[in-house]
Amino acid sequence: MADEFPQTADVVVIGGGIVGAATAFFARRAGMKVVLLEKRPALCTLTTPASTGAFRLQFDNPEEIALVREGIELFEHFAEIAELPGYDLHLKKQGYLFCATSDVGVEHQRHFVEALHGWGVTDVELLSGDEARYRFNYLSPEIVQARFRASDGWLDPKRLTFGYARASGATICVNTPAIGFDLSGDRVTGVRTPRGTVACEHAVVATGPFAASVAAMAGLRLDLRPTIRHKLVIPELQVIPAAGPMTIHEETAAHWRPTLAGCYGLLTDPKTSAGEPLDNVPTSVDFAFNLLDPRSPTSLARLSPMWESVWNDGSLYWLLQAGQYTYTPDHRPLLGPSDVPGLVLNVGYSGHGIMGSAGGSRLTVDAMLGQVRAEANPFRPQRTMVERPLDIL
Ligand SMILES: Cc1cc2nc3c(=O)[nH]c(=O)nc-3n(C[C@H](O)[C@H](O)[C@H](O)COP(=O)(O)OP(=O)(O)OC[C@H]3O[C@@H](n4cnc5c(N)ncnc54)[C@H](O)[C@@H]3O)c2cc1C
Repeated sequence: MADEFPQTADVVVIGGGIVGAATAFFARRAGMKVVLLEKRPALCTLTTPASTGAFRLQFDNPEEIALVREGIELFEHFAEIAELPGYDLHLKKQGYLFCATSDVGVEHQRHFVEALHGWGVTDVELLSGDEARYRFNYLSPEIVQARFRASDGWLDPKRLTFGYARASGATICVNTPAIGFDLSGDRVTGVRTPRGTVACEHAVVATGPFAASVAAMAGLRLDLRPTIRHKLVIPELQVIPAAGPMTIHEETAAHWRPTLAGCYGLLTDPKTSAGEPLDNVPTSVDFAFNLLDPRSPTSLARLSPMWESVWNDGSLYWLLQAGQYTYTPDHRPLLGPSDVPGLVLNVGYSGHGIMGSAGGSRLTVDAMLGQVRAEANPFRPQRTMVERPLDIL
């Protein structure tokens, strides 16, 4: 952390979540002097710690698969690449198991697995209901088919953020919001804060749900849609197999994954509307009931009868946490130079910013330095936006 306020930098990264820290990491690897600004008293305290920390290659397009694949390769060798000997991301490859309970779900899985194989994700398996139950004996008799990739998994997003930050050698300023930009003509030449201005060649916006408001200070309008998402934390639950996969209902996307001595439970309600960016994200107890009450159509009991027993027993303790997904219209991030010279975007991960942090930030830095042609960057902010249906995971 900085004692003296820095006057200059090659790049100022605004935002100290996982994306800002990853940007600092890759900028440093490109030989740049980096200042990282975070408005809160500590790094990694807004969206990133509310996440599940999971990664998968089961995506519906080859561009995001490539982005995440690049990240997984880094995560696997993080200590060595970041030169932080022994640094442990608590990475676990326990798989993503999507379970279908309807004909529509079965058909969707068949096409999806075929497409994934075509995009080179050849290790995704299609299992019959009986095969799935043989391998994962907690599954419900309702499940008629499943798709499984054993190498999908999760890690500790806070450890990854601090690993990126530490390895970046950046001058880190907490309690330091960006409150405006210095412009020379239409070019950003500095980032203003209440402690002074940092003059810079490039300023990278990595402020998660606050990206549109920060970009607006440089006169740039972004269509970003912060949307509340919850996480149920069950610290202790013996029936959860600790070595089991992320288990997901294909039709509703209700899911859980083991953690601590219990699990996280999640569900994306596609009806939740986008709103303003929030510093304090409220939780709703309805979310817990929608997952836990077996009478709910999105109950985890659709996946396994153990959840019905847990509900009937009634003695479960849980906690709720919430953050905001920052959706773009096509649910892909905006990565690279914006239309304001000197202002670079690394935003809009639409719920995939942990797994996308490495590939996305490497690409952002390369694009910022002119090492990637705009047409070769499928995530360039100037692409034609096509509204996509919600990926509900
Ligand atoms: C419930 C939930 C589960 C999720 N699960 C997963 C998952 O399993 N896998 C996955 O890949 N992704 C997941 N995500 C998404 C992931 O958490 C986000 O994409 C990621 O954390 C975004 O990181 P960020 O650094 O952009 O944003 P943040 O972590 O929000 O960081 C942005 C930072 O910018 C700071 N800031 C804002 N304005 C300013 C300013 N003016 N000046 C300085 N600093 C500022 C904020 O204080 C904040 O610290 C999940 C999200 C949620 C909510």
